Amino acid sequence: MAENTKYIFVTGGVLSSLGKGLASAAIGMLLESRGLSVTIQKLDPYINVDPGTMNPFQHGEVYVTDDGTETDLDLGHYERFTNAKLGKDNNFTTGKIYHQVITKERRGEYLGGTVQVIPHITDEIKQSICLVANATDVVIVEIGGTIGDIESLPFLEAIRQFKADVGASNVIYIHLTLVPYIKTACEVKTKPTQHSVKELRSIGIQPDILLCRTESFLSQDIKKKIALFCNVEPEAVFTAKDVDCIYEVPLVYNKEGLGDVILKKLNIWARAPRLDEWREMVEKFKNPRFSVTIAIVGKYVDLTESYKSLNEALTHGGISNEAKVNLQFVDSTTLTRENVDKVMSTCNGILVPGGFGSRGIEGKILAAKYARENKIPYFGICLGMQMAVIEIARNLAGLEDANGEEFNPHTPHPVIYLMKEWVDEQTQQVEKRDETSDKGGTMRLGAYPCMLEPDTFAHKAYKTEAISERHRHRYEFNNEYKDRLVKAGLIISGSSPDHELVEIVELKDHPWFLGCQFHPEFKSKPRDPHPLFREFIKASLKNARE
Ligand code: GLN
Repeated sequence: MAENTKYIFVTGGVLSSLGKGLASAAIGMLLESRGLSVTIQKLDPYINVDPGTMNPFQHGEVYVTDDGTETDLDLGHYERFTNAKLGKDNNFTTGKIYHQVITKERRGEYLGGTVQVIPHITDEIKQSICLVANATDVVIVEIGGTIGDIESLPFLEAIRQFKADVGASNVIYIHLTLVPYIKTACEVKTKPTQHSVKELRSIGIQPDILLCRTESFLSQDIKKKIALFCNVEPEAVFTAKDVDCIYEVPLVYNKEGLGDVILKKLNIWARAPRLDEWREMVEKFKNPRFSVTIAIVGKYVDLTESYKSLNEALTHGGISNEAKVNLQFVDSTTLTRENVDKVMSTCNGILVPGGFGSRGIEGKILAAKYARENKIPYFGICLGMQMAVIEIARNLAGLEDANGEEFNPHTPHPVIYLMKEWVDEQTQQVEKRDETSDKGGTMRLGAYPCMLEPDTFAHKAYKTEAISERHRHRYEFNNEYKDRLVKAGLIISGSSPDHELVEIVELKDHPWFLGCQFHPEFKSKPRDPHPLFREFIKASLKNARE
């Protein structure tokens, strides 16, 4: 446990989806803006060991960190808002905690004692929190779920004990709650908040600060009422007003004085916040000079949560081009040769994002073909790159039935295939996999280096030769077809340093056509938009003007 480290625990009440992840990220950003170092951890009550195998429909996007951990999408918010470097220790689930405790029990580490939720599970949780402290000034820990759920109880008990362990002056609890406006009564209601705090107090946690999600600013009277019923100081009751742009959240908190109250309660001194750069970014977002429409051709199209980072990265690309990015979601299962012209007639750029399984594949390949033939900017991410490769193989290289092994295991031309064996450049270990390998553990995951070729879209975007990007996929470009595809016009603009893995492909004589095997969206930040998203939006804007 690092000395002098302060801890902020963020819980949520009344109902889910109040934006605890964003609140935690925004608090982190505000503290960083005062010169403090922060890290953020998410404790999730579900039993899956990690979200890697969870359906994005149910749980939203699986976010990947540099070290290859598949995490909750809230870690994406944390990375976008702060400079914290996150990894495997920044996301624990009930499943992961129990897995560790049961492994220790099997090894006999508890010396025959009865293994119980308290103290063994709670101790394991507390140790997991300490893992991220290092020399950080402030550790923010978000507890998933809603107060009142039985699943989150061990986590709440652990954070209750934590205060006694590290000293009361080093810990605060922030509770995010809902204060709904009831139209028929023409007033806001504080009762759900009162009940949620009562529940929290019944398990021994007295919140220090309340963040109240509402539609409009709370009056002083309402704040006083909430303070009285919830045993919180009136100046520690904040309006977390709904905003149009998520990046406004820290600015709203700052205006309300949240940063000052947090510092006071944690008894730390820090300089005034420096928010000019952030403010400028928000202003740019809110006052775009141009507008561009991007078609996203995918499967989980109606659920923005499953493409969270992608949507954000597109927004960042828009900010850097002073453009509003309109998204047109296209369900690839409905895209046909007959309707593609009409469906795509209003978009200025086409993006095929990551995905798994064979459903809707032909529609995505068609979208890549349409973009190539009609010279519409195309950005293929992971699966989207594979689609472009298959399209080029079929229609430019004359490999009629070319496909990926994931979509047709018997294709005569597996231009995208499962690499059965490879040497992990980082660990130098030989990795193996086949079609039957464990679903959770066979993907190429996390950051890999990539070298760029000069005079390519990629090189022009990154303006450097060596890059590192995050992966999450099983299948790869099949080098056996490299020569034939290059002859047909494919440009390989990025590869692993040993040239064994194709990481980026392009087409020439096209305004902008690029597919990458990695997920650039995971590294885009509002203050530092990803170069590929910046260039893709720039090319699409140009297309819009022509
Ligand atoms: N399904 C493809 C693979 O596993 C692509 C994965 C992705 O887009 N993330 O290789």
